[in-house]
Amino acid sequence: MLGASKPEAIEVRVAAHSSMRGRCSQCHVACPGYDRLEQRRWQFVPLWNIPVWFVYAPRRVECPQHGVVVERIPWSDGKRPLTLAMMGFLARWARRLSWRETAEVFQVSWESVYRSVEWFVEWGLAHRVLSGIEAIGVDEIHWGHGLKADNFLTVIYQIDAGCRRLLWIGKRRTEKTLRLGLEALGPAVVPGAALCLQ
Ligand SMILES: [Zn+2]
Repeated sequence: MLGASKPEAIEVRVAAHSSMRGRCSQCHVACPGYDRLEQRRWQFVPLWNIPVWFVYAPRRVECPQHGVVVERIPWSDGKRPLTLAMMGFLARWARRLSWRETAEVFQVSWESVYRSVEWFVEWGLAHRVLSGIEAIGVDEIHWGHGLKADNFLTVIYQIDAGCRRLLWIGKRRTEKTLRLGLEALGPAVVPGAALCLQ
C-alpha cells in the first residue's frame, strides 16, 4: 500500500498437507505420525529487503527403523535457525561483499553469515573432489571489536592459479584451530599441498 510504513517482517506460516505423511529425517521414508513439536521459526531469503520467516510446528514420526524422530523438513538442517536457501544466499553474497557488509545489508547477525559460510563450506567438503590441490593458504578474519582470540576466524583457501576457493573455516586463530582445519581437509589435501601462511 502506498504510503504505508514498511512491515518489519513477513511471516510465512507453513502447514503440513493433511493427507501426506511426514518422512523420517534419517531415511526419508514416509512414516506414521507420532506428535507435533513446538512451533519454530527459520529465516528465509528477504523479499524487497524485508526479513522473511517460515513458521512451522514440526511433526515427529515413528520410523520402523529409526524410532520416534523429527520429520524431514526440506528447508531445514537440524537446529539451524536459517533456511538452507538463506544460508546459500548469505554464503554467496559473502564472497562478493565483506562478511560485515553482508550482515548489514541483509539485516542478519555476523554469526548468521559465519554459520552460513561454514555450512556452505562443510557441504562443499562433503561433495567435492579435493585431489589435485597444489597450494593452500591460511588467513585470518577479524570481527567484532576486541582483539581476543574469539574475535578471529581461521580460514584455509586453495590458492592454485585459476582456482581460489574457501576450503575450511574455524573459530579463533590458534594453532589448535589450524590443526583441526588441516585434519578436516585430510591426507588428500595436506601432504601434497604447499602451505602458504599469509
Ligand atoms: Zn527412518
